[in-house]
Amino acid sequence: MTIDLQYDRNHIWHPYTSTLDPLPCFPVKAAKGVYIELEDGTRLIDGMSSWWSAIHGYNHPALTNAAKEQLDQMSHIMFGGLTHKPAVEVCKKLVDLTPDGLEKVFLCDSGSVSVEVALKMALQYWYARGTPKSKFLTLRHGYHGDTFAAMSVTDPDNSMHKLYKGFLPEHLFADSPSSRFGGEWNPSDLDSTIQLFEEHHHEIAAFILEPVVQGAGGMRLYHPEFVRHIRRLCDIYDVLLIADEIATGFGRTGKLFACNHAEISPDILCVGKALTGGYMTLAATLTTQHVADTVCSGEAGCFMHGPTFMGNPLACAVANASLGLLKQGEWETNVARIEAQFAELLPEFSKLDCVADIRYLGAIGVIETHQPVRMSEIQQAFVNEGIWVRPFGKLVYVMPPFISTDEQVKTLLKGMYKVLSEHFSE
Ligand SMILES: *Cc1c(COP(=O)(O)O)cnc(C)c1O
Repeated sequence: MTIDLQYDRNHIWHPYTSTLDPLPCFPVKAAKGVYIELEDGTRLIDGMSSWWSAIHGYNHPALTNAAKEQLDQMSHIMFGGLTHKPAVEVCKKLVDLTPDGLEKVFLCDSGSVSVEVALKMALQYWYARGTPKSKFLTLRHGYHGDTFAAMSVTDPDNSMHKLYKGFLPEHLFADSPSSRFGGEWNPSDLDSTIQLFEEHHHEIAAFILEPVVQGAGGMRLYHPEFVRHIRRLCDIYDVLLIADEIATGFGRTGKLFACNHAEISPDILCVGKALTGGYMTLAATLTTQHVADTVCSGEAGCFMHGPTFMGNPLACAVANASLGLLKQGEWETNVARIEAQFAELLPEFSKLDCVADIRYLGAIGVIETHQPVRMSEIQQAFVNEGIWVRPFGKLVYVMPPFISTDEQVKTLLKGMYKVLSEHFSE
C-alpha cells in the first residue's frame, strides 16, 4: 500500500505548515540507524535526529527489544494507585544521571507538558509558602513549547504572542546573553536580567531558561557563565530556577546535561525529546526534596496534575533502555567525534557569501544565512543530495544521531555545502 499523499495534503496538518498551499511532504517507509528510507527506496542520512530525539539512531535493537518485551507484559496501566518496574527503573536512572539534588520525578506526556508541570510546581511552591508569586522571568529568543503557559515564556515575537493577547499571561523577558560559548564572558550580558530581578523579584516565582543552548528560538550557543550567574541571582532574590533541558539533555551538548557546563543544579529540571531515544513521547519534570515537600505541605496537599497516560509503561521501558545505553558511556566519545567533524568542516562554510555565521557545540552544528532559506526548493535540494536537513528561517542546522560515523557526518556536511552554494547563487 502506498502512502496517500493527496489525502495527507487535503486533510492533515503538519507542524507550522499552511493548509492552503502546503509544502510537499516526503513519504517515509522506514528508518534504521542514521538512514531514513523514503517510499521510493531513496535513503537519506539523517541530520535532525527527528528534532533532537533519535540520539541512538532509528530502530536500535536495544530499544526495539525493550518495546517488544514490554508490549507482551502491558502497554499501559493507570499510574494512580498503581506502579510498575519500567517507571521505577527509569526514575532511578533519571535521578542518578541528572545534576545533584533533583530527587523527585514527575513523569508526563511531552516536553510542553513538562514545562507546564514545572511552572505549576513553582506557583504551588510559593502558594504553599504563603507568599503567592505569579510572574515568570525568562530570556528573549527562548523556546519552551507550544501549550499556553509554555508559550507565554517563549520569545514573544517568535511565538506570536499578539495572536493570543488577552488570553496569554504576560511575563518578564530579559535580553538573551550575547557572550558566545567558548568566547569571552561579558558581564554586561546580565544587565537587563539584574534590573528585572531588582524591580520584580517579589512577584517572580521562577526564572526559566534553556541552559547554554537556546534551541528553536534561534539556535544560540551562549556562555555557561551566564547560567552560573542566574543560579546565583535566583538564590539572592529567592526565586526558583527552572532549567529546560528538553533539547539539550542526554548528551547533545557534549555534557550529559547543559547545566553541567555551568556546574549548577536547577530547582526544577525539564527533560523530554531524547528521553525515549526518539521512540515515543515521554517527558519528565524533576525537582528537589525541598520544592516537592513544600508544594505538598500546602493547602492542596498534593501537586495538582495527573495525566491519563502518566508513566506509560511502554514509553518508560524504552526510555529505560535508552538511558541504559547512555550509562554505558559511549555517547561521550561519539559526541566529541561529531564535534571534531564540525570543527574541521563547518569553518569552510564561512567562505560562502550567503553565510553570516557558523557555530557548533557537541553534536549541534549551526549555519546562519543572511537571508531566510526558500523552504520549498531547499528541502528538495537536500533530499537530492541524500540528506535530511530541515532548516527554519535563516538557520540551517544539524544535530545528527550520536552513532553517525565520521564518514556520514562528512557526507551530511558536504551535501549541505553543495546545496547552500547552489541555492543562494545568483
Ligand atoms: C521541543 C522543546 C519543548 C517542547 O517539547 P514538545 O515535546 O514539543 O512539547 C520545550 N522546550 C524546549 C527547549 C524544546 O526544545
